[in-house]
Amino acid sequence: MSDIRRNIEKIRATLPDGVTLIAVSKYHPIEAIAEAYDAGGRDFGESKAQDLRIKQQALPKDIKWHFIGHLQSNKIKYIAPFIHLIHSIDTLRLLQEVDKHAAKAGRVIPCLLQIHIAEEETKFGFTPDECRAMLDEGSWRKLKNIQIRGLMCMASNTDNDVQIKEEFAAVKALFDEIREKHFSGDGSFDTFSAGMSDDYPIAIEAGSTHIRVGSNIFAV
Ligand SMILES: *Cc1c(COP(=O)(O)O)cnc(C)c1O
Repeated sequence: MSDIRRNIEKIRATLPDGVTLIAVSKYHPIEAIAEAYDAGGRDFGESKAQDLRIKQQALPKDIKWHFIGHLQSNKIKYIAPFIHLIHSIDTLRLLQEVDKHAAKAGRVIPCLLQIHIAEEETKFGFTPDECRAMLDEGSWRKLKNIQIRGLMCMASNTDNDVQIKEEFAAVKALFDEIREKHFSGDGSFDTFSAGMSDDYPIAIEAGSTHIRVGSNIFAV
């Protein structure tokens, strides 16, 4: 059995029902993704739009591609025709741009709002208050070619599990608050993307529905 297959099977065996494993294949070649696909993987995450486009063209068409990196407006065109979920919306402006490209592609693109909760300043995303203000302002409701499906976050890069747990819990509380306030009675706000190789068990305890695991699968 290949290492990639063994890694995927090992992680999958620990996942509760309803949690989707996204194999983060950024920086890994098409052959590695094909191996993960043969092991049953259908959800893959990439952080560069042009790389993603090349991989999408080369690999089976039933793969669900997730965009998880910082997205620049001028790169949306590479992924708009096929992207399954954009996890990293960090401004209203970007949401508006995605909406335009989605309209051109004749699609509705599911999106997550990225929440900045980690202590590192280098991570992108809305602060909780910026996110509340953006949703309260309401102009996003006019965008007919995007659908806001939930929130994404990254915890601080630390060995302190208590801190990580508190950060995930804070974003889950924000998720519940937003769902209640802006999406009540409509089941579409249902995705909480949290957890990576080092912290996904903590994220699952906090209510993550989508974990994004790279090195634990591909760095073998
Ligand atoms: C790279 C990346 C991951 C995967 O990280 P690993 O530690 O390799 O599991 C998950 N989410 C985002 C946003 C990433 O950029």
